[in-house]
Amino acid sequence: MAGKSDGGSKRQWGPATEAVLAGRNPSEQHGFVNTPIYRGSTVLSPTVAQYLGKGGRYVYGRRGTPTLEALSDAVTALEGGAGTALTSSGLSAITTAIMSVTRAGDHILIADTVYGPTRHFCDTILKNYGVEIEYYDPLTADITPHLRKNTRAVFLESPGSLSFEMQDVSAIAQAAHKHGAATIMDNTWATPVYFRPHDFGVDIAVQAGTKYLGGHADANLGTISATADYWPKVKETTGTLGLNPGPEDVFLMLRGLRTLPVRLDRHMASGIKVAQWLEARSEVQRVLHPALASHPQHSIWKRDFKGASGLFSVVLKPYPQPAVNAFIESLSLFGIGASWGGFESLIIPFDCTKVRTATKWSPGGPTVRLHIGLEEPDDLIADLEEGLARLAGA
Ligand SMILES: *Cc1c(COP(=O)(O)O)cnc(C)c1O
Repeated sequence: MAGKSDGGSKRQWGPATEAVLAGRNPSEQHGFVNTPIYRGSTVLSPTVAQYLGKGGRYVYGRRGTPTLEALSDAVTALEGGAGTALTSSGLSAITTAIMSVTRAGDHILIADTVYGPTRHFCDTILKNYGVEIEYYDPLTADITPHLRKNTRAVFLESPGSLSFEMQDVSAIAQAAHKHGAATIMDNTWATPVYFRPHDFGVDIAVQAGTKYLGGHADANLGTISATADYWPKVKETTGTLGLNPGPEDVFLMLRGLRTLPVRLDRHMASGIKVAQWLEARSEVQRVLHPALASHPQHSIWKRDFKGASGLFSVVLKPYPQPAVNAFIESLSLFGIGASWGGFESLIIPFDCTKVRTATKWSPGGPTVRLHIGLEEPDDLIADLEEGLARLAGA
């Protein structure tokens, strides 16, 4: 499913150029710039032989359409992998990636700071199917002591969900590979524009396209990019589970992908500006943003990442939770809602002190997560300034 685009992935373009060119072939669409939404289940074959699987490019809607193929090719070009499978949500991309490499009797290592629903899948379905789950400290310098004879995979997420710990991805991947274990990484925060997991030894890279790829809070989709060694397994597992996304959502992802690098640059600049402003406020204890020099693993971010997206967390001084909730509700430009990566700014309170099992997280104050959208950063700061003044006075 690769290499049919005009842009081609033979030559290495910069991400902004790649995002414009990849997965497009206007000459196959009567000159129209974008691949349209192909709706369809049945694909008619001119001969019985082709119906039986000989030579047809498309065989059945669930197994691929020109629209799905366009997105798959485009993401492959950005990720630099061998192929990309598409699923209907970020979560199903994660669960499918894990199922591609594990079976009953295996042991899997999961970063303790992993996205909550990933943990829930591991603790329920994966465990019930006979896979042994072990959570590890994401900051572990050497995971070798955790690797067992039956360790099949190591799952990473960097920065960690909500608390933003940065992992040493190449060190973990090297140790895992020496042991013959696969590495899977949830790369939703950085996207391949700012971090390409395969370049750091990750075998399977997952994105919740729902976030920045779509970028407009109007669709759910997941992408699973794999290296040549793992692509056949990922493709087979996704096909066997029947996980194709709907054509409309695929089209919205393609539309979002074209502007992904420019949107991210704006999310980054505004995010850092707001984070630095918050860091200087007396109501704030700590800002958890990998691009700030104060972040404990800032050097890892600086060494490995090309940028930062607009999502970070803040530890407030120990104000009572009702006052924090009133602060959140008082903001006019920050919506209260799950998910992120759209054009709009968001804020949510969170508490992950009781979720972790391999590590302890004691922030020492109430915590909120912010997504900095594409609004004017000075407007966002003015909104936060009013809210914080009210919080301090409460
Ligand atoms: C949102 C999110 C997901 C899941 O994406 P959905 O499309 O909502 O299923 C996975 N990983 C991370 C880090 C996320 O933030």
